[in-house]
Amino acid sequence: MAQNGILVVVSGFSGAGKGTLVRKLMEKYDNYSLSVSMTTRDKREGETDGEHYFFVDHKKFEQTIANDGLLEYASYCGNYYGTPREYVEKQISEGKDVILEIEVQGALQIKKKFPNTLLLFVTPPSGDELINRLRARNTESEEDILRRIQRADEEVEWIQKYDFLVINDKLDECVDNLHNIIMSAHNAPIRQQELIEKIKKELDQISKGE
Ligand code: 5GP
Repeated sequence: MAQNGILVVVSGFSGAGKGTLVRKLMEKYDNYSLSVSMTTRDKREGETDGEHYFFVDHKKFEQTIANDGLLEYASYCGNYYGTPREYVEKQISEGKDVILEIEVQGALQIKKKFPNTLLLFVTPPSGDELINRLRARNTESEEDILRRIQRADEEVEWIQKYDFLVINDKLDECVDNLHNIIMSAHNAPIRQQELIEKIKKELDQISKGE
């Protein structure tokens, strides 16, 4: 089981089902904390302030940037989105794996600041399935859907920067797959530096006959 919390970025095309996937992951496993982002976009029907996002105006968003209150932020389809710093730092220090559901520019800012971050990219099995899902959720105009598809077309270029691709076909399988990837990532040497140092020290002592 994980001892140190890691930062996990989940990105993916708009409509890939990241939100549902992450929500299910949180319901099924209790070692995760989900960061709630700040955004200037309008609230959609069914969304709650403080739960889905902190919905703010441009002035408040810019003040938060000026106060160094965001770990990263980016502009996406005409709105600002950013990750509040305090919650993430607290949860990581308490040993939780913190999930950031953010787009690619923010993901790369996070990776630069915290190189141990695990970057995961969620995609549906095909482009056709993506547009079907965007239309089926019925929350955007056709114009906005087209903007999101064009953005997805650009985002493909960034997938190679990610550690793992997560194909969201059957939801339940995908949730377990995501969880297994995160659990395995804890054992990557980059995230086990302390243990490696400790073993090295012990082996040094033994080999010197101390
Ligand atoms: P939506 O408007 O569909 O809720 O989100 C649009 C995009 O913004 C999604 O790709 C989502 O992952 C991303 N996003 C949400 N919160 C953040 C954030 O705090 N920072 C960044 N960089 N992207 C975010």
